[in-house]
Amino acid sequence: MKSLWLIVFLAGCLSLGAQQYDLVIKNAHLIDVKNDLDESMDVAVLDGKIAEVAKQIPGDKAEKVVDASGMYVVPGLIDMHVHVFHGTNQDQYISNSFTSLPPDGFTFRNGVTTVVDAGSAGWRNFKTFREQTIENSKTRVLAFVNIVGPGMKGGAYEQNLADMDPKLTAIVARQNKDVVVGIKLAHYSGHDWTPLERTVEAGEQVNMPVMIDFGGANPALSIKTLLLEKLRPGDIYAHCFAHVGGRMPVVDEHGKVRPCVHEAQDQGVLFEVGHGGGSFVYEQALPALEQDFLPDMISTDLHTGSMNAGMKDMLNVMSKFLNMGMPLKEVIARSSWAPAYHLNRKELGHLSVGAVADIAVLNMKEGDFGFTDVRGWKMSGDKKLECELTLREGKVVWDLNGISMSEWQSDK
Ligand SMILES: [Zn+2]
Repeated sequence: MKSLWLIVFLAGCLSLGAQQYDLVIKNAHLIDVKNDLDESMDVAVLDGKIAEVAKQIPGDKAEKVVDASGMYVVPGLIDMHVHVFHGTNQDQYISNSFTSLPPDGFTFRNGVTTVVDAGSAGWRNFKTFREQTIENSKTRVLAFVNIVGPGMKGGAYEQNLADMDPKLTAIVARQNKDVVVGIKLAHYSGHDWTPLERTVEAGEQVNMPVMIDFGGANPALSIKTLLLEKLRPGDIYAHCFAHVGGRMPVVDEHGKVRPCVHEAQDQGVLFEVGHGGGSFVYEQALPALEQDFLPDMISTDLHTGSMNAGMKDMLNVMSKFLNMGMPLKEVIARSSWAPAYHLNRKELGHLSVGAVADIAVLNMKEGDFGFTDVRGWKMSGDKKLECELTLREGKVVWDLNGISMSEWQSDK
């Protein structure tokens, strides 16, 4: 009996020795900010998880070998501001309607493996969003719950103070805490702090951050009061490079970053890009970066109004920051580990052994490119990121040029 077990054990060792891993990506430059890696490394995957990261992993240890010479391997990107409550209801703007997009059509081709819906659904219709989108997407979908019952239904719905219920929002957030990362307030226009205070109250009840699209007011509400008195460390100021009516932008009329913005960031208030169809202007972004005000997280605000305009997609937004002078490592950090860390999903956004094998393989293209803002200004640049390969839980979900596949051979 003993010898039988020995044979079984040896056979197991032999088969492991032959093909220990499902897949290995070789010869790429790996950037994993959490683990402080920014160098040439191989990465191996087994059973949907990262199995090894090392200078050299022999190709014969894996069933499949991907040669990623000249490319970058990074954690699957996290786009922490999208709108994916796609549905067919008429006249509902972003909530269960046509302006929202189904995630899988826009993520993997961009190296994005996790998206965070920014409050498209509210406490009244989160269940529908969960059943319809979250549970039917290969992309990992996390979400902020909107403090307004029907979410971003547009128009008067988002102005309805009577429907902004911290208690019910907190209940829904708690019931869905496996996917909910925070509470959202958006588009409220009025000289009134009540909506903001109710959102923070809901956040406090569930110990989650809030994300504030500051809306508009006439006269405008004070950005200083918002950042230094109303928001808590870890709360998120959305659309940080927007300049829209009824809201004070982060860069003032003299081209200076407001002192309260630096002060708030020092105190832990977070700023996200949320480019969108109307929320990214060079007039704000360029002086801000020059004055060392950098966004904590890079994100798209994906919806039909942004994807066919200046925003386009996650890699285009990241490429803008590259061409504005932000180093690649910093761009990757703000699109992977930073959102994972700040949204308390620390199991994501890195390539540690044992972590889920969500991986993006990127190309840096060189040439003449143009990047537009939402006011119609163009900035020329010579670098552009492109997604070559995306793995979600160790499975190839996007392969632009077939680098994970075998060269065709005639079977004759
Ligand atoms: Zn948005």
